[in-house]
Amino acid sequence: MKKALVCGAGGFIGGHLVKRLKSEGFWVRGADIKPHDFSAPPWDEFLLGDLRDQAFCKKVVDTQFDEIYQLAADMGGAGYIFTGENDADVMHNSALINLNIVDLAHKFKARKIFYSSSACIYPEYNQLDPENPKCSEDSALPAHPDSEYGWEKLFSERLFLSYKRNYGLDVRVARFHNIFGPEGTWRGGKEKAPAAVCRKIAEVNANETIEIWGDGKQTRSFLYIDECLDGIRKFMDSSFNGPVNIGSEEMVSINQLAEYIMEIAGKKVQIKHIPGPQGVRGRKSDNALIFEKVKWKPSKPLKDGLRSTYQWINEQVKQISVKH
Ligand code: NAD
Repeated sequence: MKKALVCGAGGFIGGHLVKRLKSEGFWVRGADIKPHDFSAPPWDEFLLGDLRDQAFCKKVVDTQFDEIYQLAADMGGAGYIFTGENDADVMHNSALINLNIVDLAHKFKARKIFYSSSACIYPEYNQLDPENPKCSEDSALPAHPDSEYGWEKLFSERLFLSYKRNYGLDVRVARFHNIFGPEGTWRGGKEKAPAAVCRKIAEVNANETIEIWGDGKQTRSFLYIDECLDGIRKFMDSSFNGPVNIGSEEMVSINQLAEYIMEIAGKKVQIKHIPGPQGVRGRKSDNALIFEKVKWKPSKPLKDGLRSTYQWINEQVKQISVKH
């Protein structure tokens, strides 16, 4: 039986990935600083601890894994990574985790290791026009990410690729573009746009008002979690090292996203635009390279994923209001 390790298994993508790997027959060890917030992923073993701590990492990577997925990071949505207030933590915490895990993967001869980078590594100067952002993999340099989160990801991509060049570690580096779905952070300050907008709409009655940061004309593309898992697994099974985008090419403005969610919720609400952290003006995945190398592209429209995400967040909102 193949053995996999998921670092960050208590998180959104990690929890779903554990389920996927189990359904494919892997033996799975998960590791995270916290248990999963919303479900009990079916891992065979879960180690609770701090991956910044080398001693803990040595317990987590103590054998040769067939596949390691390094997803653990200090991360959040715009309200966490673009305010500047968490920059030192984001850089320090995530860099330490990556330094620890990649080195142990090399020492214990992991057969393959996946690293989740981000679209946030792309230079701000290519993402000023909301209708025409450029995010092809070869546009990453000269580097000018708009957040320290992006700079750390860029450093760590290069770290993983250095282990490939110098030690032959078989790495896969993917740049995720806004992954969303049920069982992701939906409140508390670390949530991302789709979850935040679903929550805001779920919390109000028809014709009431919700707030959106900025003018809402900023654009993004959002990828549903199941599609993301398909992309990760196909990429892992390919012989391509990356870096490669894993995202959707269906670009919408945040105002359009809110309209879609209102339609799904069956309620029309008013939008009040307020100042707030937004990130770049436009961003969309460019899937040419992943399609060429891995033959993967998303298969479903954004609205499909929003439907199940809204349903799940609406349930969470209802449960909380019952408790209060
Ligand atoms: P998440 O925050 O739900 O998961 C990250 C997990 O890492 C959390 O469970 C957290 O507890 C864990 N973690 C953080 N610090 C740790 C530490 N010191 N020790 C042990 N565990 C620690 O985020 P996610 O959305 O599941 O993202 C997974 C990965 O994908 C991250 O590396 C993230 O940067 C990357 N990514 C995600 C998106 C997205 O849209 N969700 C986009 C780009 C990149």
